[in-house]
Amino acid sequence: MTLTNNGHTVKMSLSGDYLVDGGGLGATYRAGQFHFHWGKNNDRGSEHFMDFTPHPAEMHIVTYDTSRFGSIAEAVGEDGGLAVLGFLIEVSSSVQISPPINIESLLPASRSNFFRYDGSLTTPPCSEGVIWTNFKDTIHMSENQLKMFRDLRDESRHKIVDNFRPLEPLHGRTLYSNSC
Ligand SMILES: [Zn+2]
Repeated sequence: MTLTNNGHTVKMSLSGDYLVDGGGLGATYRAGQFHFHWGKNNDRGSEHFMDFTPHPAEMHIVTYDTSRFGSIAEAVGEDGGLAVLGFLIEVSSSVQISPPINIESLLPASRSNFFRYDGSLTTPPCSEGVIWTNFKDTIHMSENQLKMFRDLRDESRHKIVDNFRPLEPLHGRTLYSNSC
């Protein structure tokens, strides 16, 4: 794994074989990277809202269809080429992460309840064809860990905050849920 501050977000590039199967995706997807979106304050930051409410941050695992593509770059803009797994983050009093970091340990224990829709990338090129899966269970981060994100700087030495795309209307798309 390689962790970078690319000036817009914190991105972890993955080189291992992290495969995502099942969940109705219809193909095997491989995770190429995960990254975060966060707000300046806890009243905003996520790109998806739950019950009309934003969360302070959101994590995205970007995966691509391994049967058709060899990388995220090849799959961009292709129908179903990319599938993004979204996890809302909530603030919790104390969260310990000790190395070696295991992706599984960063995710909510239960991933059986989720929403799905056909959407787009939320950063340029904002291309369509992305299968979104947003989990109902959240990830926990401490206030201090969020502060570390908020203290990061871009190339112009400005703090990286509010790096989320504003909420977009559904535009008649169907939002699916696998739970009641
Ligand atoms: Zn994202």
